[in-house]
Parts: sequence; structure tokens; C-alpha cells
Amino acid sequence: MSENATTLTTRTASVDQTKALAAALAGLVRPGDLLLLAGDLGAGKTAFAQGFGAGLGVTEPITSPTFTLAQEYAGRLPVHHLDVYRLDQLAEVAELGLAELLDDGGVVLIEWGDVILPVLPADYLEVRLTFGDGDDDRHITLRRVGPSWSARRRLLAEAVAPWTAEPVDGVDAAGPGGAGHAGGSGPC
Ligand code: ADP
Ligand code: MG
Repeated sequence: MSENATTLTTRTASVDQTKALAAALAGLVRPGDLLLLAGDLGAGKTAFAQGFGAGLGVTEPITSPTFTLAQEYAGRLPVHHLDVYRLDQLAEVAELGLAELLDDGGVVLIEWGDVILPVLPADYLEVRLTFGDGDDDRHITLRRVGPSWSARRRLLAEAVAPWTAEPVDGVDAAGPGGAGHAGGSGPC
């Protein structure tokens, strides 16, 4: 139950759909937001970051920050794109200056962010990409952690509704007696 309360499962069938989903999510972010991009190599973390940036009006191409740990892009909000894959010690995270980045009025996206969970703030959205059946199929699970994201539960569900396999959660819990075919008021 607690899983369902904090996670939303979505599916995409192409890189463009993943980018569109990310752009839709970008519409509800605020300064100081943190998104962790989790998933294996090639799952689509960087593709997600590209769509997200596009949603915030970033025009510069967002590339995989393989040789630089952090890259900043100018958009409606500044976008800080980090890849911590190469970090082998948590101590190195201090060098990222994460607190400063989060305080900069922008949004921070961290690829492989789940690796540095112990040093992350208590509020973030985890975006986990996993491979689906077909080559271009991905499952993208959004997990809200902390009060700031919990408060945006409904907004989040609406933003990603086009890629949600199941009805927006909460809707089907409308109440007893409401079950059955919608609109039917006849006695049967
Ligand atoms: P990561 O950053 O997780 O290592 P990338 O975003 O660099 O992954 O690469 C993802 C690759 O998978 C790209 O070549 C992209 O075109 C391809 N791809 C195919 N289908 C999808 C999809 N549904 N979502 C995201 N990427 C996809
Ligand atoms: Mg990448």
C-alpha cells in the first residue's frame, strides 16, 4: 500500500515519449527541486534530462556529463545536470556542492543519484527507468520522497497521465456505491 501511495508507474514506447513525459514533468518543478534519475546504462536517464530541459526552454544540447560531473544549462529555471556514476567515494559528493546547487534557484537532476542517497536531502523525486519488453519500451517509476513532492501528488499524476498504465490513483477510490458503470443511475 505504501508503495502505491508514493509511486506512479508509467510506460513509454520511444525515446520521444520519454522526452515528452520529462517535459510534462518539467512543467511542475520549482526552484530547489531535486530529481534522481535511476536506471541501468542505456535506460534513458540522459534522454529524460534532455526532454526535461526542453520543457524548461533549454536550447543548448544536453549531453551525458561523463567527463564533467556537473553541467549547468540556462532555461526558464537553471538546470543542473549531474552524473555521479564515476564517484567511488561518498566523500567526493562534497565536491559537487549540492547544497549550493539546490540553493541556486534552479532544478538539479542527478543521474545515478540513488548511489549517493545517504547524502541527499529528504525531498526529491526518484525517476527510475527500467527496460520493458520491446527495445524501445521503458517503465518509468516516479517515487515521491518528502513533503514537497507529496504535496504535488495530484499535479504529478495529471502531468504524466498520458503515460500511466492505470487510472490516476485515487480516482477509482471514489467511494462505496460508486463502483460499476459510470453514469448509470438506473436500479439494477
Ligand atoms: P542513460 O543515460 O540511462 O545511460 P541514455 O539516455 O543515454 O541512457 O540512452 C538511452 C538510449 O535508449 C538512447 O539511445 C535512446 O534513443 C534509446 N531509447 C529507446 N527507447 C527509449 C525510451 N522509451 N526511452 C528512453 N530512451 C530510449
Ligand atoms: Mg546518461
